Amino acid sequence: MKKVLIIGILAMIIGTQSEAQGFPKPGCSTGVGDWMLKKKDTLGDRGVGDNYHMWENGTVLKVKFMAGGSKALRAKVMECAKEWEKYANIKFSFLPDNSPATELRIKLGKGLGHNSAVGTEARFRKQNEQTINFDTLFFADADYYIASLKKKGINPPYNLTQLITEMKADPNHWNEKELKRVVTHELGHALGLLHEQSFPGVVKWNKSDSVYNYYRETQGWDRDKVDFNVFEISNQFYTNGTKYDPKSIMHYSIAPWQTTDGYSLKDNYELSDGDKKLIAAFYPKGKTESDLAVAKVDVTNVGNLKVVNDMVRKGIVITPSFDVKTNSKIGEVYFVARLADEDGYYLKADGDYYNWGGTLATYRKAILMPNKKISYNKAGQKNLELFIPFDQLPKMGNSKIIVAFAVYMDDVKNKQMNKLMYFSTTTPLSVPSK
Ligand SMILES: [Zn+2]
Repeated sequence: MKKVLIIGILAMIIGTQSEAQGFPKPGCSTGVGDWMLKKKDTLGDRGVGDNYHMWENGTVLKVKFMAGGSKALRAKVMECAKEWEKYANIKFSFLPDNSPATELRIKLGKGLGHNSAVGTEARFRKQNEQTINFDTLFFADADYYIASLKKKGINPPYNLTQLITEMKADPNHWNEKELKRVVTHELGHALGLLHEQSFPGVVKWNKSDSVYNYYRETQGWDRDKVDFNVFEISNQFYTNGTKYDPKSIMHYSIAPWQTTDGYSLKDNYELSDGDKKLIAAFYPKGKTESDLAVAKVDVTNVGNLKVVNDMVRKGIVITPSFDVKTNSKIGEVYFVARLADEDGYYLKADGDYYNWGGTLATYRKAILMPNKKISYNKAGQKNLELFIPFDQLPKMGNSKIIVAFAVYMDDVKNKQMNKLMYFSTTTPLSVPSK
């Protein structure tokens, strides 16, 4: 997928050869539910705020930069974080690059687009992986670099190499307006906000080939990704009683030809009043918990997922190690281990047992009390075991398996089921062959 995205962006730059257009803009490619194994395993609900992945009110988020990004550029990112702090009871605490454990990790790089994990979904990523990508090529002041090329007597069309060479020779000329727009938007995702254009019943997308082609050519997205990033309509629940806000920093720009009724929208560059109100409602100052809080479990301090072939019991024993913290609401929680082949495709379940949505799995259900913290398989304690007999496995030959561990929650009160609260996978492991 990364490869496709890189090609998409290169095509965009090379395709944009008129100087008037300058650098093109990549769209925000934030995927909701994160991209995991090859069967999409969230319900794909979208909306203005993902209630189930909000950080706890008052959290001080530990943030660091991955390798790359000048001091000057990093300072600009940190400025944008302050903008959200004005309205939300949440802090971004920027730590040194070598900090071992952080919630958010920002990569200022090239070729990965602009995107962010949504709220606590950042916990699904390993500490050596970034949770936010910014493509710095699209922060460059295009007018400035094109002017300097012209001064040297070089006429358009310009190619990517020329522009990168100019940037290297004379760095730190940024399009401040665009930079601020993109960074504020992605940090909005990091706080749990979703795309405003997914507000139900507002944008009547023209789901024609021309729109799919447009996103394929400009972003390198396949049809599934366009459906997911652009056309997805949120469940009414996630609007949290708000009105549609066309001025939101979380809204995509829309061209008239992309809608059936000619509706269009230009990019927004500032936090709207609606953005300020919504983030203040999710993270209220002077209050312990938001009125918008739903049942939620925070899965933290995750240790190694231990997987052992038990030859006596003739099965695979999986012992995940983690802490679970509940908020003031009650939820039904499922600890699920699914099996996938080494290419990342889930194995199919044969019967009614060891079956999670059609995939071969083993799980435990737990009803967790409000405001509790429970440790599983910590400090010598063995209090959660997931087991799957060898005879459930398909013919594997010498191939290996991947174990995907997930925590799901049913918010019965709000009729929002199967919410993914945590997800991680092992490296491929050997199992006894049939
Ligand atoms: Zn976005």
